[in-house]
Amino acid sequence: MALGGNALGRAGGTGSWAEMVRQMRTTAAPIAELAAEGVELLVTHGNGPQVGALLRSTELAAGEVAPRPLFALDAESEGQIGLVIAQELGNALRRAKVPRDVVAWISRVEVSSRDPEFRNPSKPIGAFYDETTARRLRKQNGWTMIHDAARGGWRRVVPSPRPVRWVEGELVRALFDAGLASQWIPIAAGGGGVPVVRRPNGELEGIDAVIDKDRTAAILARTIGARTLVIVTDVPGIALGFGTRWERWVGKIDADELARHERAGEFPRGSMGPKVAAGLEFLGGGGEEFVVTDIPSLARAVRGEAGTHVRRAA
Ligand code: ADP
Ligand code: MG
Repeated sequence: MALGGNALGRAGGTGSWAEMVRQMRTTAAPIAELAAEGVELLVTHGNGPQVGALLRSTELAAGEVAPRPLFALDAESEGQIGLVIAQELGNALRRAKVPRDVVAWISRVEVSSRDPEFRNPSKPIGAFYDETTARRLRKQNGWTMIHDAARGGWRRVVPSPRPVRWVEGELVRALFDAGLASQWIPIAAGGGGVPVVRRPNGELEGIDAVIDKDRTAAILARTIGARTLVIVTDVPGIALGFGTRWERWVGKIDADELARHERAGEFPRGSMGPKVAAGLEFLGGGGEEFVVTDIPSLARAVRGEAGTHVRRAA
């Protein structure tokens, strides 16, 4: 199960710790409900706003505290968010008297140093700047900056390479194989995981990038041999003609038909696109079912009563 940004905060919210805890309490309720039914779960989550805030803190504090690289901030955000989920989901389980507990791990995810994103970064991250500041940051830090016409400002863009391998995956798979997932709910690879590349000598090294959490979710699901991949976001499912007068919400669909809509350009790159791509990759690699839903419908969606359900093509 992959939790989107709204599981941990609201658009236009303050991004405060208290708000994150409050929001997670809401998100935890349906997850605890599923846990009470005995569903085995692996949870991952996004980190966009949180890693953006950490990045901004390091910029503001740079005169006094040595800045950490972006991949280290990925790990920091995994730690923070993992803590909040472990705490609030753990408490929800205790309240519901479900004898299960939660464990959060920092995960590294291998990417290829030859990924085209390292030459052409595409993912906007962090604060908005005016043009003069953007030019200075480009010169000072070697950042790639792009102009966001819609929101009227300059922003840093970083590589968003394709995830290749989940470094800690074998351990988590072993936990599932040993039947321990009936007792533990692992939280892993938040924010898509910490990106690492393999040096020619075989050693791993962190690299400044962010990995899309939806694409990592597909790898996590495949690694543990999950039956279902659930992506939890802020809309009740997948729509065709989204935002147009022909908008139609999809209940059930098979992978081939969804792939046809994907090729027809139905799903934008920065939002529904990676979710659909992750779902199709998961189904193509042996997964049975891909579900997109929101928090209020989550428990019903997993039971097949809400959300969009995509089945592996016959
Ligand atoms: P998350 O933080 O959960 O990853 P995103 O903002 O990346 O959320 O993606 C969810 C958003 O995708 C929705 O809020 C919606 O505005 C947008 N979206 C774009 N195309 C579609 C579509 N075809 N069906 C449903 N939602 C879509
Ligand atoms: Mg997203």
